[in-house]
Amino acid sequence: MSSTEWEAVIGLEVHAHLKTKTKMFCRCALEYGVGENTRTCPVCLAHPGALPVPNARAIEHTIKLGLALGCEISSHAIFARKNYFYPDLPKGYQISQYESPLCGPGTFVIPTADGEESVGIVRAHLEEDAAKTVHAGGATGRSVGADYSLVDFNRGGTPLIEIVSEPDLRSADEADRYLRRRWQTIVELGVSDAEMEKGTLRADVNVSVRKRGEEGYRPRWELKNMNSFTFIRRGIDAAVREQIAAYERGDEIEQSTYDYDPDTDHLTVHRSKEEADDYRYFPEPDLVPIEPPAELVDRLRGEIDELPAARIRRLTEPVGFDVAEELVMTGKDWKADALARDGVEWRIAANTAMNQPDFLPENAPALAKILQANVTRDALNASFAASAKTIISADDYLEQTAVSDESALDPTIERVLAANPDQVATYRGGKEGVLGFLVGQVMKETGGKADPKVVNRLLREKLQ
Ligand SMILES: [Zn+2]
Repeated sequence: MSSTEWEAVIGLEVHAHLKTKTKMFCRCALEYGVGENTRTCPVCLAHPGALPVPNARAIEHTIKLGLALGCEISSHAIFARKNYFYPDLPKGYQISQYESPLCGPGTFVIPTADGEESVGIVRAHLEEDAAKTVHAGGATGRSVGADYSLVDFNRGGTPLIEIVSEPDLRSADEADRYLRRRWQTIVELGVSDAEMEKGTLRADVNVSVRKRGEEGYRPRWELKNMNSFTFIRRGIDAAVREQIAAYERGDEIEQSTYDYDPDTDHLTVHRSKEEADDYRYFPEPDLVPIEPPAELVDRLRGEIDELPAARIRRLTEPVGFDVAEELVMTGKDWKADALARDGVEWRIAANTAMNQPDFLPENAPALAKILQANVTRDALNASFAASAKTIISADDYLEQTAVSDESALDPTIERVLAANPDQVATYRGGKEGVLGFLVGQVMKETGGKADPKVVNRLLREKLQ
């Protein structure tokens, strides 16, 4: 394709389940993998007269995430009814936010190799998830070939945050970086597990193309319910490829919703613009507006630790952007930080954090001591293998290293040989099995601190 002539225009809508003990508007427990329809009540089953009560923790999580994404926090957010009919929605409407969301607008800044990239956030709002429909004839394996569906209401009413970005991303790579950064931010804040395989993080991806330098946007395709970083990247590439091909054939692009099939790497129309929904939003009469006090917003802001973007920026100085990004995005930067705090040179600290992922916080001072003693990487790896995930004693380790020094062992070996003339004669007579006894004697003399391999080799040399 003429990629120099065309550019992609990508916007994302990401939904993440919030990590709360109970549902958004009732006290049913949120538990994954429990029996179907065992976590329900009159509120989430929409019995007549049942009234919703908002989950305070979900509101706090949303504000915290909004702050981390660089959003303004609304002082007057309103819940609205989004009306549509579907079997997984017993009320006949979803409680969401429409004209007055809790967070937005804002700017999420992503450090890159060349500086940084800003992605506009249109809004981040709070809503409830629908229940889960299971097509009995499909992949459940329970009733293959059946022509009915089952609904599990355990998921109905799960608090959900929807984050809508401006169409500021220009390639699948940029979208991927943005999504991963935001995923890392969400996970570190502790507001969501954001596990794509469990469906707790899903994205709708809007893709269009335009000629470079062109103002405004052309009609877009929406790829619905994407739940893997890889498929999102491939779905964007497929949409860009197919749209450019269509324009170059002289065809028009219609605004539509598409499904991406990862098996064929193709897109199929899900629904076209003419069938677009009109949800007839109106303010939810059973809930008062959310007016978060300034003290609450300040407290939540105070609870946010240094965010991934800030850490990447800080670590770029000592180790360069690529290493900084890898450390932060794999969640290993705190290990490098701990080592550097204990005096290890940054480059070595970063390397060790990436190559020794198992070490624990309490090991950092001991490990720093080992690293500063110029111990070889092999020796270090051996020490880790021997004491995997336990606390390493650098003192023991360094003592052993010192004893393995050949000249330090020499007098001990001479002493053992002089004390055991019979065994020496036996060895020299061709019975090498006796060497084990002599190694044992040296080990005993050194209090077990010597490296048996080194002792073995030195004894052989002396006995030749
Ligand atoms: Zn309930």
